[in-house]
Formats: sequence, structure tokens, C-alpha cells
Amino acid sequence: MISGKLYIISAPSGAGKTSLVKQLIAEMDDLAVSVSHTTRAMRSGEQDGVDYFFVSVETFKAMIERQAFLEHAQVFDNFYGTAQQTVEDNLAKGLDVILEIDWQGAQQVRRMLPESLSIFILPPSIEVLSQRLQNRGQDNPEVIARRMRDAVTEMSHYPEYDYLIVNDDFSLALQQLKSIVTANRLTQNQQQKTLAALLQDLLN
Ligand code: GDP
Ligand code: ADP
Ligand code: 5GP
Repeated sequence: MISGKLYIISAPSGAGKTSLVKQLIAEMDDLAVSVSHTTRAMRSGEQDGVDYFFVSVETFKAMIERQAFLEHAQVFDNFYGTAQQTVEDNLAKGLDVILEIDWQGAQQVRRMLPESLSIFILPPSIEVLSQRLQNRGQDNPEVIARRMRDAVTEMSHYPEYDYLIVNDDFSLALQQLKSIVTANRLTQNQQQKTLAALLQDLLN
């Protein structure tokens, strides 16, 4: 069975992971981003089922009960989780799948799927991180203050990740992200699946 690679991407809020992943998906084939479930309020411009599945705490807890999540965690004051079925279906189809999740979720996924790869996106400085959260213009000052407080905790988990990328120049960071996906598609293990027919032809 062909199976894709699972990538975990974490970063403090405002570091640019959503913008980077959006552009990565637009520029690379056979890549799917997992749409998480969340109990946080929808931001202006966000769409249910596209940015997140926005659900009540009740619905979220019912999903925990029936073990619908691959991982879930409380981040800031909200619950976030990755539904298991879609991720598994996409991987089985041979798509590489990206999870944009926090360090707690990353630890859970690594335990269950040790062959997954993880990438941590760092901001170029604390000041720039704060500036980006303010420029994004989506969160009120208290929410931004909370996110800045939690940023150091999130970043302290960087040693648990396979790759580190600094998102200073956007196009360079995007290029680096693409390189990681491309390099992993060229490993013998992945190529054995992708090139099964060619390898059989060449060796017979
Ligand atoms: P943003 O990161 O600033 O766009 O803010 P969000 O409110 O969209 O997400 C807050 C944090 O929740 C993100 O930084 C992610 O690390 C985390 N997160 C999002 N989806 C999931 C998920 O499905 N599982 C887990 N564990 N964390 C998630
Ligand atoms: P996250 O998903 O990590 O919270 P976003 O993708 O929402 O981060 O990015 C936060 C803000 O910073 C957005 O307004 C985005 O346009 C901006 N941004 C992202 N990357 C860069 C960059 N390299 N340089 C300048 N601004 C950036
Ligand atoms: P928006 O600002 O509307 O959220 O982002 C629009 C698109 O521009 C995103 O899909 C993202 O890929 C890209 N983008 C976001 N921030 C930057 C940036 O700082 N530089 C560049 N070159 N592109 C960006």
C-alpha cells in the first residue's frame, strides 16, 4: 500500500506557519493539510471546514469520548484536535499530510506515528513575533498578550523537532520548507513505493 509522509509543523502563534503552509500547498502537488477541530471563536475571514471545523466544547468532548482524535490538546484557553480518519485516508491515498499543531499534540503524534517528521518554525525575534500578531489584526490585545506569554513555552520545545526554520524572509522560509518535503520524497524508502513499477522493470 502506498502511504504518504506525515509532517508536524509547530510554531508560536504569529510565526507564520499558516501563511507558509498555505503557500506550500498551493505550490506543491500531493500534499494535504489537515483541518483541525477547535472550540475557539471564528476570526473574521475564516471559514468553517476550511480554516478549522469550529465546534462547541460539548461536541469536542463527545469526539474525545468516541476516540475520533489522533491527538488533541488545550492551547491557550481553547481545545484543538486532529480528526484521525481524514489523516489516515489521505496518507493511505499516498498524499503527504501536514498537521499544524502545538507541541503537546506533536508529542502525542510522534508516540503513535514515530515515522512522522516534525518542523519547528521560529520567528526572527520576539519583537517581530509581537509585531506580526498586531499586524495580523485578528486578536484583541489581551489575546495577543496571552499568545506572547505562551510563545516561550512553545519555543522551548524546539529540540524535539527534526527541522528548524526561521521565518524571516518569507520566500526563503518557504523554499526551505519545500526542500524538506522534496528531500524526503527522494529517500529510498519513499521512492521504493513511488517507483515500484520502474524498479521492477529495471531489475527484470
Ligand atoms: P494561530 O496559530 O495564531 O493561527 O492561532 P490559532 O488559534 O489558529 O491556533 C493556536 C495554536 O493551536 C496554534 O499555534 C497551533 O499550534 C495549535 N493548534 C491548531 N490546531 C491544532 C490541533 O489540531 N491540535 C493541536 N494539538 N494543536 C493545534
Ligand atoms: P501563525 O499561523 O503561525 O499564527 P500567520 O501565518 O497567521 O502565523 O502569520 C502571522 C502574520 O505574520 C500574518 O499577518 C502574516 O501575513 C505575517 N507573516 C508571515 N510570515 C511573514 C514574514 N516572513 N514576514 C513578514 N510577515 C509575515
Ligand atoms: P494574507 O496576508 O492574505 O493572509 O496572505 C495571502 C498570502 O500571501 C498567503 O497565502 C501567504 O502565502 C502569503 N504571505 C503571507 N505573508 C507573507 C509575507 O510576509 N511575504 C510574502 N511574500 N507572502 C506572504
